[in-house]
Amino acid sequence: MSDGTQVSPPAPVSEAPRGEDLLHNPAVNKGTAFTEEERNTLGLRGLLPARVCSQDEQVMRVMENYRTKPNDLEKYVYLTALHDRNETLFYRVVMEHLPEMMPIIYTPTVGEACQHYGHIYRRARGLFVSARDRGKIADVLRNWPVENVRLIVVTDGERILGLGDLGANGMGIPVGKLSLYTACAGVHPSCGLPIMLDVGTNNETLLDDLLYLGLGQKRLRGQAYDDLVEEFVMAVQEVFPRALIQFEDFGNVNAFRLLKKYRDRVCTFNDDVQGTAAVALAGLYSALRITGDRLIDQRILFAGAGEAGTGIADIVVSAMMDNGLSHSEAAGRCWFVDSKGLVVKSRDDLQEHKRPYAHEHEFCEALADAVRCVRPTALIGASGQPGIFDRDVVDAVASINDRPIIFALSNPTSKAECTAEQAYGWTDGRAIFASGSPFDPVTLGDRRLVPGQGNNAYIFPGVGLGVVLSGATRVTDEMFFAAARALADQVSTADLDQGSLYPPLSRIRHASQSIAVAVARMAHETGLATIEIPGDLESYVASQMYEPTYAASP
Ligand code: NAD
Repeated sequence: MSDGTQVSPPAPVSEAPRGEDLLHNPAVNKGTAFTEEERNTLGLRGLLPARVCSQDEQVMRVMENYRTKPNDLEKYVYLTALHDRNETLFYRVVMEHLPEMMPIIYTPTVGEACQHYGHIYRRARGLFVSARDRGKIADVLRNWPVENVRLIVVTDGERILGLGDLGANGMGIPVGKLSLYTACAGVHPSCGLPIMLDVGTNNETLLDDLLYLGLGQKRLRGQAYDDLVEEFVMAVQEVFPRALIQFEDFGNVNAFRLLKKYRDRVCTFNDDVQGTAAVALAGLYSALRITGDRLIDQRILFAGAGEAGTGIADIVVSAMMDNGLSHSEAAGRCWFVDSKGLVVKSRDDLQEHKRPYAHEHEFCEALADAVRCVRPTALIGASGQPGIFDRDVVDAVASINDRPIIFALSNPTSKAECTAEQAYGWTDGRAIFASGSPFDPVTLGDRRLVPGQGNNAYIFPGVGLGVVLSGATRVTDEMFFAAARALADQVSTADLDQGSLYPPLSRIRHASQSIAVAVARMAHETGLATIEIPGDLESYVASQMYEPTYAASP
């Protein structure tokens, strides 16, 4: 498998700059950890204080500073500065404190950072491709200093988390996702390229903000937008032909179309649709281990028929078909309520992605009424509407099921359809609950319930690693399927006993490794791999995972 196609190693220090330039290159900078010998041979003597520190001591200093920051945004700014200064130390700190730092480098703090991007900006990270670059996007890509790019996360900033159109401020999202690829799955940092496709913004507040850094124009739409995306995708094939393109936080109007247009042409996926789907399916598999029921016997009511909800339904349908149902039987087990009410055949206002789930049924407007007539075994919220799983709704689903499955996936925490405390409290602890954002454990009598977080970070980093290591030329539903199963397999009986449908974040690297193995294997079985896999795939994947330790100098 080692045919020169493996994940890029760090640049050898012998090729790295010397002296002051070395200290300003985050990929190779060790700061105060440069040894006496390195200080002599690399022209560093005098440029650093006398004492040579160990990496452990550097971590101690970082944590001391980090913990004095007055709020999460300041912590984000501090970690970003560390990332810009010493990449290895940044990943060592983040990987050692992942449960604490995940909410800072990603949702929810990254959302706040995006909102203030133009104001907290220090230096650029990633590549900015704008509508002004039409006709020369390949040249822009060639300006990126690394040749062996294997993973691109791109956004056009139209639907950033639950925050809407943030234009070029959305760059924080690809940057954050690529940090998670490294922290959660050990993808080498040099493989990743964050890209902002700046097509303008319709956010008037940003357009009026003198410090806004993006194109000061309304969003491109129609043919002009499609032409720009097409040029971008083709330019990637030309400049970085082995890169996987992850579309991230595009608006509904474009996300589904672009996925459909490119998924069979290039190596690509949409995390909001497919990553969310796989993480939710893994949660369902875990929930069914508790109830002892079969997936094909479930009847699922989704509140929210957007990228997340219909993405989940699509993978559930594939999983049910894998277990013997026909497409129409499987789709018939998935029901939707959107902002207008129950999605039924008689409605003439349905977007294309909702139509497969529009069933022959009387329309009803209220969610609780929909629960009473659909009689779901599972209720999955992906609506972005806080509190819509109210007492009436939860009572209705709990009166139908001994162990009702209730997922409140909307982010951030303030947008969750219900809290963990409500789901458990209103059902006397019978609910099998998972959420999109973290909730604290809930104590109910003598039981301590620890709700699992259906975080996409459980899925996409492992999928990306598997695709990169197998050289897969496409990303398929079967791979997300395999990823969901591999993740569910990581949930122990002890996790289930305390109500957790996902492994703890402290085991995420191991979960990502298993997912990468499953995805690489699937790539081979389906003829999509371009790199031969060794017999002992587990060990091989483990050997390729990045460790945040300083490279030895020559
Ligand atoms: P989206 O904008 O594509 O879809 C939202 C959907 O909710 C739309 O279909 C809309 O009609 C519907 N809706 C609005 N009000 C409603 C109401 N009162 N009742 C029922 N439906 C209503 O957004 P999306 O990408 O699908 O994301 C939705 C939510 O899911 C967001 O809060 C997002 O943070 C969350 N999400 C969570 C995860 C995760 O937990 N892993 C992953 C992705 C998205």
